[in-house]
Amino acid sequence: MSDQTSCACPKCTCAVSDNAIERDGELYCSQACATGHADGSEGCGHNCSCGK
Ligand SMILES: [Zn+2]
Ligand SMILES: [Zn+2]
Repeated sequence: MSDQTSCACPKCTCAVSDNAIERDGELYCSQACATGHADGSEGCGHNCSCGK
């Protein structure tokens, strides 16, 4: 289990909550972050540009 409170995406500061996506034991605020923005997305849908 993890007690992480913010997204594990390096540039993302979004809080993770009940709907967090877990990947490799870390919590992410969105699917885009969980995949490391492999889809080329620039953000996570929470008004940050963590994928740039
Ligand atoms: Zn974010
Ligand atoms: Zn991200």
